[in-house]
Amino acid sequence: MGKNSGGSRTVSIGVGTKSGIGATHEANIKDLSKIKDPVLRKEVIAAVEEFSKEIGIKSINIKVADTNGSEYAYTTFKGGKLVGITLNSKYFNDSKVLIKAKGGDMASGWSTKTSKVMRHTMIHELGHATWSTLLSEAKYKAAGKEIRKMYRAWQKDTKKTGYGTYSTKNVDEFWAETVAKSFYGKHDKYTTNARAIIRKYNLGK
Ligand SMILES: [Zn+2]
Repeated sequence: MGKNSGGSRTVSIGVGTKSGIGATHEANIKDLSKIKDPVLRKEVIAAVEEFSKEIGIKSINIKVADTNGSEYAYTTFKGGKLVGITLNSKYFNDSKVLIKAKGGDMASGWSTKTSKVMRHTMIHELGHATWSTLLSEAKYKAAGKEIRKMYRAWQKDTKKTGYGTYSTKNVDEFWAETVAKSFYGKHDKYTTNARAIIRKYNLGK
């Protein structure tokens, strides 16, 4: 899945194979090769490639940096547009550190439960990249109406399982956690609906 372009490691997915347009979207993941722990490096890159294959990938940079914060990662937006994803080097240099922290968050019920502790955060951030309240293009506004409706139904649903309390923070975190759950968690009507919304509004591109 990887290819070299201008000296940067990129992951790409050809889109438009059905329409014949043949455009290619690429995320620059060169920085991910800096992840010191080879086990974690492989897992994070695999997550990006899996996301690229199943949903699509946008032309953004995915970086690893000391964020001076305690969050695992964040996705940046500017002027209604997606800028990039930053993974906090405090967690993303050592698989043991990340597994202990993120595994603990899943066990405590803070994070949504998934089977891939090392890939969860990368997919969560790529979920933000597919849709956010900070994206201003018309398709995101239209998708937002359906996502907010789903969020309200989810809030009232007393039978849902596998979600962490972080999903209750706001509609953006609900969305990102549900996208992560659609990859590595227990499938339900919300994960199915999230994938349907992504396809309907072409949110992966
Ligand atoms: Zn988030």
